[in-house]
Parts: sequence; structure tokens; C-alpha cells
Amino acid sequence: MPALNKNNSAVKRIMQEARELANDPCTDYHAVPLEDDIFEWHCTLRGPAGTEFEGGLYHFRIVLPAEYPFRPPSLMMLTPNGRFDLNTKICISFTNYHEEEWQPAWGVRTAIIGLQGFFPLKGQAATGVGSVEYPLSERKRLAQLSREWVCPQCNQCNLEHLPDPKEGPSKNANVLSPPSGLPADTADVEVVQDSSTATVVRQSDRIEEERQVHMHGTAELVHRSSHRPPLILDTAICVLLVLVLALLCRRVL
Ligand SMILES: [Zn+2]
Repeated sequence: MPALNKNNSAVKRIMQEARELANDPCTDYHAVPLEDDIFEWHCTLRGPAGTEFEGGLYHFRIVLPAEYPFRPPSLMMLTPNGRFDLNTKICISFTNYHEEEWQPAWGVRTAIIGLQGFFPLKGQAATGVGSVEYPLSERKRLAQLSREWVCPQCNQCNLEHLPDPKEGPSKNANVLSPPSGLPADTADVEVVQDSSTATVVRQSDRIEEERQVHMHGTAELVHRSSHRPPLILDTAICVLLVLVLALLCRRVL
């Protein structure tokens, strides 16, 4: 294994992404850098649900340039799939075929999610270097075969890399979308918006409560005063009784 310069910004960034992916695994993909080359990753991706690729597991290479993250990664499909050519750099908006569209804030995860979004595209949107258009039946047949496909470099079949989730189809599949933006960020923004709306609603509820308290303040004071007097009256009656008793005692004595 070649010695890694851990002060190199690309190496630092790649190691950080590898840690993040390991700490936050997804049932839709599994990606790790090769043990002997951190600039090459092998990834297994689940075929998008509701498409002819559903049930399929696809293994591909991600090659990161020395200038990463300032230049985009290259993706090369390894498992026969009927959608992308094998061992050919796939032309999609964030790969090295469209360098100008790549953003350094994106990462390996963005590239994987983007590739998954490109699987079901049809017609003009699906064309480009590395694209093939096999019939639906052939894609479905390849999807079934792909599960047992073994990567000659990893020596593991795709199902071993990415076992099926126990509770059926992946929940994360709905979150995934083409790489027009950063899906995870969008989800975060939505969550933030939801929670802020909830806070606003909660605040307005509180204001409404306060207004009601204010409006019924007089009534409540009356209500409260009807609660307080019995105590004062009781005390007064007690004092009077004591005085009366004292007077009676005085007279008797
Ligand atoms: Zn592999």
C-alpha cells in the first residue's frame, strides 16, 4: 500500500467522506475506497424501485482525480445492466464529461445518488457517452442476474455488499432524485421549514391563549375573588367567634 500524505487536501477530504459513509450507511448503496488506493472506490447501488432495474444490484468504480474535490469523479459500471456501457466513463452532468457543472461541495454520495437518478431516464435524456438502450425484458433479466454478480477485484457478490433491507423496499428510495441539487440538503431545509412552521403555529397558539386570558381577565378576577373570600370570611368568622367567646367568658367570670 503506497504511503498516503494525510496533509494532502484531497486525501483528507476523501478520508472524511469515507468516514461519513461508514458512519451513516444507506440501504440503497454501499461504497468504500479500495484498501490500496483511496482515490478509487467500489460501490454497489440498488436499482431504483418502480423501474425495470428494481431488485437489481449494480457494482461500479468511482475514480477520484488528484485535484478532488475541485474536479469531478469518474464513474464506470462493472455489472451488466442494459442501461450503461461497461468499463466506460459514464457521461452524466457531474462526471468529468461536464466538469463545469461539478461543485466541490458535492461528494461521492452525491455522485452515487445522481447515478441512481439517471438509471430510469428515457429517450433524449438517457443518451450520452456510456449509455445503452437495451429492451425492458433484457434489463429485467440482467437485474435478476446482477444480484449474484461477483466483482473480480472485491471478490464478493453484490448481494453480499448490499444485502436486502429486512423491512422490504428501502425507505430512502423516495428521497433519491437526479443530481440537479443536493437531495439531502433539500430534505434538511424541508425539515427546518416544517419545524419553524410548527414553532410559529405553537407561538400563535400561545398568543391566542394569552389573548383569551387577557379578554377573560376580568371574569377570572371575579372568579378568583369568589374563590378567595371564603378564606378571608372564614378567618373573620373565626376572629369574631373568638371575640364573642372572650366576651362571653368575661361576662360569665
Ligand atoms: Zn469491486
